[in-house]
Amino acid sequence: PTMAHSESLLVVENFIGGKFVPCSSYIDAYNPSTGDVYCRVPDSGKEEVEAAVKAAKDAFQIWSSRSPLERSQILNKLADLIEHDLEAFAEAESKDQGKTVKFARTVDIPRAVHNFRFFASSILHHVTECTEMPAMGCVHYTSRAPVGVAGLISPWNLPLYLLTWKIAPAIACGNTVVAKPSEMTSVTAWMMCKLMEKAGVPPGVVNVVFGTGAKAGEALVCHPDVPLISFTGSTLTAQRITEKSAPHCKRLSLELGGKNPAIVFDDADLSQCIPTTVRSSFANQGEICLCTSRIFVQRGIYSEFLKRFVAETKKWNTGNPSDPTVDVGALISKEHLEKVRNYVKKAQAEGARVLCGEGVDPLTLPPGNQKGYFMLPTVIAEVKDESCCMQEEIFGPVTCVVPFNTEEEVIERANGVKYGLAATVWSRNVGRVHRVAHRLQCGLVWTNCWLVRDLNLPFGGMKASGIGREGAKDSYEFFTEVKTITIKH
Ligand code: NAD
Repeated sequence: PTMAHSESLLVVENFIGGKFVPCSSYIDAYNPSTGDVYCRVPDSGKEEVEAAVKAAKDAFQIWSSRSPLERSQILNKLADLIEHDLEAFAEAESKDQGKTVKFARTVDIPRAVHNFRFFASSILHHVTECTEMPAMGCVHYTSRAPVGVAGLISPWNLPLYLLTWKIAPAIACGNTVVAKPSEMTSVTAWMMCKLMEKAGVPPGVVNVVFGTGAKAGEALVCHPDVPLISFTGSTLTAQRITEKSAPHCKRLSLELGGKNPAIVFDDADLSQCIPTTVRSSFANQGEICLCTSRIFVQRGIYSEFLKRFVAETKKWNTGNPSDPTVDVGALISKEHLEKVRNYVKKAQAEGARVLCGEGVDPLTLPPGNQKGYFMLPTVIAEVKDESCCMQEEIFGPVTCVVPFNTEEEVIERANGVKYGLAATVWSRNVGRVHRVAHRLQCGLVWTNCWLVRDLNLPFGGMKASGIGREGAKDSYEFFTEVKTITIKH
C-alpha cells in the first residue's frame, strides 16, 4: 500500500481521565476502499492501560453515587450530540471500515445513538425483589450496585455500534469503563470521546485505549482492578481471554462468531424470503456475526430458489462505499479478503459450484478503488456439510446453498456445526415454525424475517458462539452485583 504524506494522516489519541494523551508508538490504519494508510492509531500497552484503569477507578466513587436519573440525562445528551454529527460519523465509519456510507448512516450510527437512549431509559425501570418470612419475623430484599471498572473489548465489523452497546449499559449502571476498540477501526470511538465533556460525562468515567489485542487488550484482560470483561469478537480470542482472566476469576460476557443457517421450507413466501436472505447473506459485506452463510432449501423448490437467489444477488452493486448506488463496500483488510477468497477456492477444489461472484463474474472498480479490498457477493452450491465453507465462519460476502428433504433432517444438519448464534426459518406453517425454532441450537431464531431486534430481549449465542446474554435486563444483571439483605424485626 502507498503511504500518504505523513502530515495529512489522521492521528488518534488515547482518551484517559477526560484528556487526550499521545502514545509513545503508533500503528498504521488503512482505508479499506483505497488500500492507503490514512490514520495512525496508538499502540497502547500496559502503561496506557494502567493509567486508564487508574482514572476509571478514581472516577468510580463519584459516578456510582449519581442517581440513575442523573446518569440517564447524561446518556441522552451524549446520544443527541452523536446524532447531531451523524453524517460525519457515518463517513468516518465508512472510511475506516470499508462499509458503505449508506449502511453506516442507516444502521451503525443510528444504532449507536439508540444504544445510549435505550439504556438511558431502561436504567430507570428496574425493580428489585423482596420476599417476606412472617413466621421468622424477617423480610428479605435484594439490592444491586455497579461492579467497578468494566473492561470492554469490541471488534471491527460494527465499530461504534458494538462499542456503544457495551459502554451505554456499563455506565448507565454506574460503572466506569476502559474500552479497547479494534485496532483496525478506532476513529469513530475517538470522535465520540471528543463529545464526552460537552455531554457532561465526568472525566475518567469513559476511558478509551487504542491498540492491538495482544498488547492493549491483554493488558486490560489481565489487570487485577478490572473485575469484568465484556468481549465481542472471535471464538479464538475468547478462548485466550478466558484463559488469561481465569486466575482473577473475572466475570465474562462473550459474544462470538456464528455459522448461521437459513432454513427455507417449500411453503415459504419466496418473494419475501429471497430478498431478505440475500440481505442476511451480504449486508455489511457479510461481516456481521448474524449473517446467513448456510442456506438449506427444501428439495421441491431448490432449483427455483437458486435461480431467483442468484438473480437477486446480482442486483447488488460492489464498489466505492461513498457511492449511493453501491450495496457492497470493501472488506476490512487485505488479509481478510485473501482469507475469504481462499474459502471460495477451497470449495471449488472440493467440487462445489460457484454460481456467481468471486472468480465467475468480472469486478469493475472506479480508478480510485483499484487497490481496495473488494469482492463480489458469492453464491456457492453443491457444497458438502463437512466442507470448511459449511463449518467455519467465513465472515465475508459468501453464502452456500444446499438442498434438504425433511424437517427432521434439516434440524440435525443446521445444528451440525460448533457455533450456535442465530438462524432464520422460512415457512407459512406456524406449527412447523415453532417446532423448528425450539429445536435449533442457537440464541436467536428469526422466522420469516431477519435482524428485527427489540433491545429489551436477550441477545447472545450458544455453544462456541458465546457465554451470557446482553439486553435490557441481561446487561443490567451483568454490569451490576446483586446482594441479598435480610432484616429481622
Ligand atoms: P477478534 O477476536 O480478532 O478481535 C476482537 C477484539 O479483541 C479486538 O478489539 C482485538 O484487538 C481484541 N483482541 C484480540 N486478541 C486479544 C487478546 N489476546 N486479548 C484481548 N483482546 C484481544 O475479532 P474481530 O476479527 O475483530 O471480529 C470478528 C469476529 O467478531 C467474528 O468472529 C464475528 O462473528 C465476531 N462478532 C460477534 C458478534 C456477536 O455479537 N456475537 C458481533 C460482531 C462480531
